[in-house]
Amino acid sequence: MNKNPLFWRNPDYGQQAALPFSQADLFDAVARWERFAPYLERTFPETIATHGIIESPLIRLEHLQESWTELNSLGLNGKLFLKADNQLPISGSIKSRGGIYEILKFAEQIAMVEADLVYQDNYQILASAKYRKLFANYGVIVTSTGNLALGVGIVAAAFGFKTTVYMSHDARQWKKDKLRANGVTVKEFTTDFSHVITQARADASRDPRIHFVDDEGSADLFLGYAVAAVHLQKQLQQHHIKVDSTHPVVVYLPAGVGGSPSGVTFGLKTIIGPNIHAVFCEPTHVPSVTLGMMTKLNDQICVQDIGLDGLTAADGLAVSRPSRLAGNIMRTLLFGSVTFAEPDIFRYVAQLMDTQQIAVEPSAAAGFTAIPTITKNVSAFNTPDTTHIVWATGGNLLPENEKIANYIQGKALL
Ligand SMILES: *Cc1c(COP(=O)(O)O)cnc(C)c1O
Repeated sequence: MNKNPLFWRNPDYGQQAALPFSQADLFDAVARWERFAPYLERTFPETIATHGIIESPLIRLEHLQESWTELNSLGLNGKLFLKADNQLPISGSIKSRGGIYEILKFAEQIAMVEADLVYQDNYQILASAKYRKLFANYGVIVTSTGNLALGVGIVAAAFGFKTTVYMSHDARQWKKDKLRANGVTVKEFTTDFSHVITQARADASRDPRIHFVDDEGSADLFLGYAVAAVHLQKQLQQHHIKVDSTHPVVVYLPAGVGGSPSGVTFGLKTIIGPNIHAVFCEPTHVPSVTLGMMTKLNDQICVQDIGLDGLTAADGLAVSRPSRLAGNIMRTLLFGSVTFAEPDIFRYVAQLMDTQQIAVEPSAAAGFTAIPTITKNVSAFNTPDTTHIVWATGGNLLPENEKIANYIQGKALL
């Protein structure tokens, strides 16, 4: 309530609990991404190099780590890495995982039920006139002012779905322009965003052929995010990173509604196990997931209920009420969470640019802000054998002038 940065250590971490998803659900999603790879490769030239696989590199931040003590007046034990989802194709953000996956699943279901697609087909046929004509009978609605709109909008329109993005009037012009250029209808609203969601949900429910992408509780989004863990397991091995009780891996994830960090965490726990630990990072003005989990009220409480304004420059994290899924599933899977004051994310945006020449959006730098707090408070994670992975959740589509403005703002704070 005082807007002070805090560290919340989850008292239920590591307990046994029944989860609504299983490893089989996760591998069902992995297989679906693989079936669609030929389609994605054909439809989105930026994925040709990876043969239609939507993935991002794991980057060792050697130079930032060398300068860490000097820049942040605190040492850093262990090794520092960046999971560069800012480079993911199509949305330039982590939303390419969940958002695109949800559209793939919708398209596959229609193509199988209403036409003759079978699992062993080469899914490039879904780009043919026959299927595009079929998909044109269906619609997709998504509400977002940010990256989710880009991921869902661009891919849904590419299939041929009638795609509508509901946005608040203050959404960035370049996002609206990009969506419209890709054949997406953008509806703008001047009302509060929670009303926009209600409106969108109601519009979608009137027509069974319209699919509503529900950022507040979609299982498909969740499983699309979770697939990241399967690729990360391989990348850890490629970097010779051990994961066991004396070699912990700590993953720092920015949380907005909580869907993407929870999906990723579920995947990490399912695939990699008890020695990889997730920490969520939220603005002091919008600690929605932390609030829901601390109080165990989950989506029944929002930050305005305790007098916070919900305002942040980290627009990817500006969600006042947590998702219906996140809190429940994370109850035993989340190590803890840390909140940050606004200037911190800009400082790390500038540090990452100066030392590694990597540009991320402010939201995506949130993970760095938690490292000093975690290493100070958790001695087990303050060892030379700890691996710290900051999940950079977005940034590549930011226009150059915004990247520069963010950098200048951070540089002034160094
Ligand atoms: C959406 C987003 C997040 C947070 O994801 P949630 O599912 O809302 O928790 C973090 N960073 C960026 C850049 C995002 O776009």
